[in-house]
Amino acid sequence: VTELTESTCDVLIIGAGPAGLMLATWMARCGINARIIDKRSTKIFCGQADGLQIRSLEIFDSFGFADRAVKEANHLLEFCMWNPGSDGVIRRSDRIPDVMVGLSRFTEIVLHQGRIERFFLDHIKKHSNDSIRVERGVIPETLSFNEEILDDHSQDSYPISVKLRYLTEEEATPAQSKGSATRDGLFRSNLAEDDTDELIRKSKEKDGTSELVRAKYDVGCDGAHSWTRKQLGFQLEGEPTDFIWGVLADIIPITDFPDIRMRTAVHSASSGSLMVIPRESKLVRLYIQLIEVKPDASGRADRSKITPEVIIKAAQKIIAPYSLTYEYCDWWTAYQIGQRVGTNFDYRSRVFLAGDAVHTHSPKAGQGMNVSMQDAYNLGWKLGLVAKGIAKPDILKTYQSERRRIAQDLIDFDHKFSRLFSGRPAKDILDETGVSMSEFKEAFVKGNLFATGLSVDYGASMLVAKDGDAADQGDGTKVSTTNPTKVVCRQDLATNIRLGMRFPSFKVLNHADARPWHFQTKLKSDGRFRLIVFAGNVLSPVQKSRLDGFCKFLDSSSFIRPHLHKHIAILTLHSSKRMETELQRDFPEVLHPFDAHTGWDYDSVFVDDESYHEGHGEAYKGYGVDKETGCVVITRPDQYVGFIGSLDEDGRAGVEEYFKGVFV
Ligand code: FAD
Repeated sequence: VTELTESTCDVLIIGAGPAGLMLATWMARCGINARIIDKRSTKIFCGQADGLQIRSLEIFDSFGFADRAVKEANHLLEFCMWNPGSDGVIRRSDRIPDVMVGLSRFTEIVLHQGRIERFFLDHIKKHSNDSIRVERGVIPETLSFNEEILDDHSQDSYPISVKLRYLTEEEATPAQSKGSATRDGLFRSNLAEDDTDELIRKSKEKDGTSELVRAKYDVGCDGAHSWTRKQLGFQLEGEPTDFIWGVLADIIPITDFPDIRMRTAVHSASSGSLMVIPRESKLVRLYIQLIEVKPDASGRADRSKITPEVIIKAAQKIIAPYSLTYEYCDWWTAYQIGQRVGTNFDYRSRVFLAGDAVHTHSPKAGQGMNVSMQDAYNLGWKLGLVAKGIAKPDILKTYQSERRRIAQDLIDFDHKFSRLFSGRPAKDILDETGVSMSEFKEAFVKGNLFATGLSVDYGASMLVAKDGDAADQGDGTKVSTTNPTKVVCRQDLATNIRLGMRFPSFKVLNHADARPWHFQTKLKSDGRFRLIVFAGNVLSPVQKSRLDGFCKFLDSSSFIRPHLHKHIAILTLHSSKRMETELQRDFPEVLHPFDAHTGWDYDSVFVDDESYHEGHGEAYKGYGVDKETGCVVITRPDQYVGFIGSLDEDGRAGVEEYFKGVFV
């Protein structure tokens, strides 16, 4: 007999990989009644992703735990390329910076995924008062909807029903491949079949415990084989390729190869390619092309033919004449490159898919975990604000319109990068079937900005007041998400703060205590929009009266006033001489509000001026804002720029219209 209990929650997250954990983090920060389940019994014990790109680190920083990652990780600073010379022997042909110089205060780092998950779990625990915990060994069995109330987003409407089943410890522990002494991560690789249906079937055959959860929203973060995606009948489109790669993950290598502590790509003349990713604690991860393992007639490689011995032998051939063995191997895996993207990212703004559930590709460019977390980062605050009844449900439509395009770009990028990486190097310019090494370098340099995650540029919607009528969903169809009031936006007032892109960072000083800060660090991921007032030169009487007028408008707008500080935080950056200005005298109270319990806010007004020890950040110049007249910028809770306007009448009207398009 199966016991059945019933419960309700606002957001149910299926899958606790990087995407699910990022979403749960937002739920904790927004104070949402959320649950997160995973079919596995433990958090990740071996492997998978390790590369953290710049944008992910900026996001971690906005939650407050980037420092933990930066401290523990290995830092990748140089990318080396090794190619065969005319004698067929490999030699170092180039060295370039791993990421372009000057993009961010962060660079690329690598760290065990288990540690990254730990940072998330600690943060979720702290901010949810331990109310959101990953429930492990739990699997969804059925998903259904009450169609009649699907469009009713009111507080007591729970249109989704998910039946959960609790697994035993044994069922929830993934099987390991037979005969190998070292742990393998094959159960998570695309060479393994998904075991979800099998787990459900087995569990149904015996007595057990089930639970019927009624939820407002459901998010499938359940990886490449996504059960949730299958329930919705959505497809992943794309094809596997013939390229099979093995991963010796996380070995202590013994080698005379000189670049073993650099991120390195080695193209051998005829034995395939190899990628070196140096890791923390003297570990190294090797991605090794297995040219001798071929897919069968079904197009799939036989995973039983792949062992750590097969992988290291392939590596030795590629890296010859250098020697390569290892003493210690933490785990290993293998995968077949395939690039696929989901047809749909949501079902009627009620069920969403994020991460590998909607895009899969090769791991070598270190993108999967990053883009997966960034999907959830895009969705989480929107769900949080809608579930609390603060924002209009329509903003949920921007999840697909914003993220599907990124997934498509990712697939295109990976397609190009993997082909160049897995291809045989050209012998000379007449060798048309070979890959030209200058083309490989060019693709790496061009793809570099994309890979950092900083080139993301969201289209027009009620959240991004760009010109344009409707946002392209990335599949040619358009979703009409544009603010119908057509907010007038002034990109020309802040030429380097691009609408639709993340707010960039320059050093500024806290006005009250003269301490330098990267300005972006003040845009915390706490679920609030930011109104960034570039106050200009407040010592000029004309500008001072403009600023006073703007602040008066904020205080008097019956629409904005109730949201101020609660859902809209204000940051000010002025350009007058710090030593000639006074916080209390020159800046209206709304810019540094007083609270009966915590006193005056000393962390909201900043100045673009010389610091004692770190020079002048030249932030106004960097942002492309006029030092006399300033402007106002709205960033969304995820730091993307939604609106730019003047501090005058037209800008004030624009600010009000923008928020009318977002808040209920
Ligand atoms: P997953 O990490 O797959 O998580 C899905 C979770 O859902 C799992 O915990 C799973 O147990 C659970 N689940 C699945 N089905 C169910 C179900 N029915 N019920 C309940 N729970 C379920 N990416 C990078 O960015 N950088 C890298 O350096 C990198 N290296 C990689 C190296 C290797 C060898 C591999 C294989 C991948 C690598 N990736 C890398 C890709 C990265 O691991 C994935 O893109 C990322 O983990 C996707 O995150 P996710 O949360 O969407 O899915």
